[in-house]
Amino acid sequence: MQRLGFNEEHTMFRDAFRSFVEKEVVPHQEQWREDGIVSREVWRKAGENGFLLYWADEQYGGLGLRDFRLSQIMMEEMARVGETGFYLHLHGSLVAPYIDKFGNDEQKSRLLPGCISGEKILAIAMTEPGAGSDLRGMKTTAVDCGDHYKLNGSKTFISNGILADYVIVAAKIQVEGKEKIGLLVVERDMPGFERGRNLNKMGLKSQDTAELFFNDVTIPKANLLGDPGRGLNYMMECLAEERLIVSCINHASAQSAFDWTRDYVNERQAFGQAVAEFQNTRFKMAEMATELDICQVYIDRCVEALNDDQLSAEDAAKIKLFSSEMQGRVVDECLQLFGGYGFMDEYPISQAYCDARITRIFGGTSEIMKEIIARSLGLA
Ligand SMILES: Cc1cc2nc3c(=O)[nH]c(=O)nc-3n(C[C@H](O)[C@H](O)[C@H](O)COP(=O)(O)OP(=O)(O)OC[C@H]3O[C@@H](n4cnc5c(N)ncnc54)[C@H](O)[C@@H]3O)c2cc1C
Repeated sequence: MQRLGFNEEHTMFRDAFRSFVEKEVVPHQEQWREDGIVSREVWRKAGENGFLLYWADEQYGGLGLRDFRLSQIMMEEMARVGETGFYLHLHGSLVAPYIDKFGNDEQKSRLLPGCISGEKILAIAMTEPGAGSDLRGMKTTAVDCGDHYKLNGSKTFISNGILADYVIVAAKIQVEGKEKIGLLVVERDMPGFERGRNLNKMGLKSQDTAELFFNDVTIPKANLLGDPGRGLNYMMECLAEERLIVSCINHASAQSAFDWTRDYVNERQAFGQAVAEFQNTRFKMAEMATELDICQVYIDRCVEALNDDQLSAEDAAKIKLFSSEMQGRVVDECLQLFGGYGFMDEYPISQAYCDARITRIFGGTSEIMKEIIARSLGLA
């Protein structure tokens, strides 16, 4: 199907990123999965090639290309090779925008160049052992001590949690006698900042997801992002983009699973014919192709809206809900069409099935997406 809004320059960018992935990602995927983490080297290589924070202003070392389609292309190309742990989109399109949007000039000059070169890796820490969907229930606190804050608490399930050099941490702060949520940049070597385990997971095997602990960490006020009382608003503002990122990956991963399956059913023989010749296979493939194309159109429309600063929380919730549920249905059906081979680790569909399970949970669960959508419907 013809994609809307993509031009010749997008094709050139896709070709360049695809070559990068073939050279710098594919040869290392097995090792990264075994290690539970990607190498720092690939981050530096991505930086050298201009793929990290390409949108950032040139004064900080970026290319000033404010077009989310470039992120979308990178996510699609990573999904094409089944790479689900090298989270450059989390770094560049999800966390760095907090610094760009809410940081001051000094913070941008200090923090962005390393993120653009790949020397510094980003993470965002909202979730706690006792508070995920209900962010207001967080217990981490930052106490105002004049020229600095004292940060105490813990976070869990933090993506890039082991590699991260800068972590944007959400914490409760007292502002004019009222309890608010603020965002602080915690740096790798700050005394009292410790990392827990790289968590074992059923999928996303090459992604380092970790617990983080803060014991009396001194955070200079220079590392507070924006207004100390508006952290929750900032997160709500950025969550629409986060949900679109997740949706792009959901769709691209489901599309890859579909493409692998089409090749497989055409090859695989049963009862003297290709599996693709059974009516059940043809109907299932037709249903999946239809869902994928419809979802793609909605995503491309949301990307256009984001580029125009018009993406609403409801539209982001709708596409996150639909794309993650659709991905679950598609990878399950595709695995079924692979038969027993689909259950074997060496077949990418097996990994795609495990990777897909989290997308209905992170970035806001499907249930929370339904709540956000329902709130916009004018129901009693
Ligand atoms: C691999 C991975 C990576 C992650 N990366 C990050 C990260 O980088 N940074 C970060 O901050 N967090 C991250 N998370 C956390 C993720 O965003 C949370 O797990 C998610 O928001 C759900 O929170 P929870 O796990 O506490 O579940 P809970 O909030 O405890 O939810 C449990 C169940 O209750 C349901 N539920 C909760 N509230 C409602 C309600 N109001 N109505 C109906 N049902 C409800 C949920 O839908 C769910 O089914 C990550 C998680 C994982 C697993």
